[in-house]
Amino acid sequence: MSIATTNPATGQVLKTYDPMSDEQIDAAIGRADGAFRQLRGTTVDQRAGWMNAAADLLDAERDEIARIMTTEMGKTYASAKAEVTKCASAARFYAAHAAEFLADEPADAAAVNAGQAFVRHQPIGPVLAVMPWNFPLWQVLRFAAPALMAGNTGLLKHASNVPQTALLLEDLFRRAGFPEGAFTTLLVGSDAVDQILSDPRVRAATLTGSEGAGRSIAQIAGRELKKTVLELGGSDPFVVMPSADLDRAAEVATTARCQNNGQSCIAAKRFVVHADVFDAFAEKFAANMAALRVGDPMDEGSDVGPLATERGRDEVNEQVRDAIDNGATVLVGGEQPSRDGWWYPPTVVTDLTPEMRMWREEVFGPVAGLYRVGSYEEAIEVANGTSYGLGSNAWTRDPQEQRRFATDLDAGNVFINGMTTSFPELPFGGVKNSGYGRELSAMGMREFCNTKTVWVGGDGGGAIGTAGAHAE
Ligand code: NAP
Repeated sequence: MSIATTNPATGQVLKTYDPMSDEQIDAAIGRADGAFRQLRGTTVDQRAGWMNAAADLLDAERDEIARIMTTEMGKTYASAKAEVTKCASAARFYAAHAAEFLADEPADAAAVNAGQAFVRHQPIGPVLAVMPWNFPLWQVLRFAAPALMAGNTGLLKHASNVPQTALLLEDLFRRAGFPEGAFTTLLVGSDAVDQILSDPRVRAATLTGSEGAGRSIAQIAGRELKKTVLELGGSDPFVVMPSADLDRAAEVATTARCQNNGQSCIAAKRFVVHADVFDAFAEKFAANMAALRVGDPMDEGSDVGPLATERGRDEVNEQVRDAIDNGATVLVGGEQPSRDGWWYPPTVVTDLTPEMRMWREEVFGPVAGLYRVGSYEEAIEVANGTSYGLGSNAWTRDPQEQRRFATDLDAGNVFINGMTTSFPELPFGGVKNSGYGRELSAMGMREFCNTKTVWVGGDGGGAIGTAGAHAE
């Protein structure tokens, strides 16, 4: 895959980049390693100052950053601006909370025959981040903010279709004051990941991307005995039960499926609806989907822009064709328009069966599958009946059902009567083929920390002294 900015709304190639040479990669890893030695000697307060400066830059430059994202991957300008704002607030969250998340945790010294015992969280070194194009700023920021605040350094291998966003991220952290090499963008293809992750100076990797990329990176990391966090695909269920507020559910279902032009890992993709309300929900949902305005993503009046890549658009079209050829019914959309750029309309498909690709696979575009079920038990069976387990939604006003869904849905999160999203305050990640490990919250920060047990014999007497916010 070439490293280039191609406007998905027109198909026009706007800028191409040469991949970095082996020597340039080696030098960049060296700088990240050097910066780690420097960064680990700084205080949390110093790093918080730089992280807050990065947040201020994001706010000040929001419109220009958003324009670059929309041009590179086609999300609507309004959603791109919201993404920049979310990044600024997450940066401030980690600046404010890092001292608390990294604070030494005292243990029961007497129980372990010590004078003093505690747990300390320390950085581990340069971490490789392999990132996707769909939330090109947020996916990186949610790794970078906790990693840098913990004292690690970051090496970014961004998706090959968002090189300008990748470069502005390096520039952002440099201008915010972080030492040279603390956060480095590597303009490389996925074929360079083996070389980078095999380098002994690189201590761990995080990937947000497809299942295939996850398997490949996990294999390399396994061979090299390095820690990984994998945030992979999802085919989230959105269950609607008879007691649900149907108008609200159909409204949120439309946003949950079509936000980011349908290209979100935690988009609701499979709508599992109880037979008692199936027809009423289907009618409302189909009408909402049909009413979405598809058009130029820079136009504030557009709800849905193009898909990010030609390959991605073709894949979505093939998945829908496969369903139609095997007997599915299209309620809305389903026809790929013939115009320049990579467009696909909001689509609702029902009468799906297990042999169809849409039943089994993640659909990364504005296409909803509608499933009819006869009971709570069948809803759970269909909802959990995929290889994925990232997010999940349930709509019901019955408190007992709410409690059961919270336990029975097999996913990294359950959102009841609301749309799945991510918050810096809450852990984010999946189970099954959606990956492992967690991002965000204190948990995300500690994924790339050495959780060190410190045991001091004798009367200890605070000889070492724990700190609310120790030097690292
Ligand atoms: P992708 O092809 O896996 O690309 C993601 C990143 O991985 C890119 O930087 C890509 O580089 C790199 N990559 C691809 N194959 C690789 C390999 N074999 N070895 C090493 N690196 C590799 O993903 P995508 O299809 O563009 O993005 C959409 C996928 O990401 C969906 O499945 C979506 O659900 C998932 N996603 C998950 C989350 C989450 O938080 N769980 C969030 C967003 C997206 P190149 O661009 O150079 O190929």
